[in-house]
Amino acid sequence: MEASFLVIDNLIKKYNDTNALDGVSLTINKGEVFALLGINGAGKTTLSSIIATQHPPTSGDIFFRGVSIYKDLRTYRMALGFCPQQPNLDTYLTVEQNLIFAGCFYAMSSDAAKARADLLLSLYDLGRYRNRKIEELSGGTRQRVLIARALMHSPELVILDEPTVGLDPDIRRQLWDHIAVLRDSGVTVILTTHYLDEAEVLADRICLLRDGKVQLVCSVTDLKNKHDQDSLEEIFIRLSRQEKEKELYESAA
Ligand code: ADP
Repeated sequence: MEASFLVIDNLIKKYNDTNALDGVSLTINKGEVFALLGINGAGKTTLSSIIATQHPPTSGDIFFRGVSIYKDLRTYRMALGFCPQQPNLDTYLTVEQNLIFAGCFYAMSSDAAKARADLLLSLYDLGRYRNRKIEELSGGTRQRVLIARALMHSPELVILDEPTVGLDPDIRRQLWDHIAVLRDSGVTVILTTHYLDEAEVLADRICLLRDGKVQLVCSVTDLKNKHDQDSLEEIFIRLSRQEKEKELYESAA
């Protein structure tokens, strides 16, 4: 039997007294958009940055196609593209140079990197910015460059950490179309967001984190059917009311 695409096994991350992650276990399937949701401080960035190998967990493991990523970080990193929350594009380079540089970093030949950059510039509607410096770009365009850069080495898994935070509503929606292009190309996407409308439009499954723990993992369709509701926002308001009532009931008992 083929091993699961990505298995997160009992991740714990401690910062002094804080358990940023408190025993998170999840399975992410190939080709899905998996959204990590939760209020600020829930643990979304900690989890996505550990999956992106930016830093190790305190304990626990992650298996990519059945092999611990910590046993073969190189293979895993070749399969991984990461768009961090803080854009870290090289401001001294043009858009095209940023892409080609990323391709060369992943050992692509300069011809292959140039060809791939051409394709991504066109796919992400960046052709007219090709020779612009990063400083000259708007926030939405920078995010598109970040996504294109993460795709230079044709990764199987892409992590997008809060890709639309701080953008105007219409720019956010345009970026959704570009994320949908990514989804439709068969790439597996882990999307960190605190916008429920974003998860509703883009995600196949959602994971709700709270205080570093998984509160809920569910397909968006199943969740809507179960609660007989079309809006994720309405469902989460109801769930949070139920949670508060339970806490009140338990504290009174
Ligand atoms: P989210 O992305 O959901 O807003 P984070 O993963 O950033 O949540 O944070 C989860 C918890 O871990 C928070 O309590 C936060 O204060 C804490 N935390 C995150 N990073 C650090 C750090 N580098 N040092 C200390 N505490 C941290």
